[in-house]
Amino acid sequence: MIQEQIQSVQHNIETACKKSGRNPEEVTLIAVSKTKPLSDIEAAIDCGMLEFGENKVQELLDKIEHVSRPVHWHLIGHLQTNKVKYIVDKGLLIHSVDSVKLAKEIQKEAVKKQVHCDILLEVNVAKEETKYGFYYDDVLPAVIEISKLSNVHIQGLMTIAPFVENPEKNRNVFADLHKLLLDIKTRNIDNVNMSVLSMGMTNDYMVAIEEGATMVRVGTGIFGARNYSI
Ligand SMILES: *Cc1c(COP(=O)(O)O)cnc(C)c1O
Repeated sequence: MIQEQIQSVQHNIETACKKSGRNPEEVTLIAVSKTKPLSDIEAAIDCGMLEFGENKVQELLDKIEHVSRPVHWHLIGHLQTNKVKYIVDKGLLIHSVDSVKLAKEIQKEAVKKQVHCDILLEVNVAKEETKYGFYYDDVLPAVIEISKLSNVHIQGLMTIAPFVENPEKNRNVFADLHKLLLDIKTRNIDNVNMSVLSMGMTNDYMVAIEEGATMVRVGTGIFGARNYSI
């Protein structure tokens, strides 16, 4: 079942790329395995998946420790400053940096452990009160400040679009984030690499790709519905 789901998502990614004249190799599929058992991750690896996303630090650490083969991990959930020390040296991409304070904490721990850390800035494009992330107009000043941190490297931007029935409704959100990415890119800020645009989930990843996503984060579409009651 996981194999068929992955094939179907990959097929959809190709379709969205074709429609928008993009090369499917520009789009990385991240399998969001939060709440799912290690056996599901192993099944996905058997199908060739190499990128996995988790939203909780403890669950991520457990899975990093127990997975049988080396894969790339992505932290996609809100990160508390007091947990930075546990993950900064794990070589993962942190998608969810939502404050300058958090970036400074990552810098502090990265220097201590003599490592470098790649991050994305999370942007709350639709200004939803329930969501984390920088507001649109605050992103550039934050990028400039964070760019001065020697061991923290901004690779791009991430957003979690609103939950909508019709994914077309999120097209503007994705287009706006892409525009912001390009705006910042043209400024050629030292230590800032605006090459990653992480946007699109099960419900809306095809629209996100049409609007320029380079990473899509798909959970339900690969592993099936999550059960939070257990
Ligand atoms: C859970 C989660 C996803 C995956 O959501 P699905 O709708 O199951 O694809 C993607 N991004 C983030 C930040 C998440 O927390």
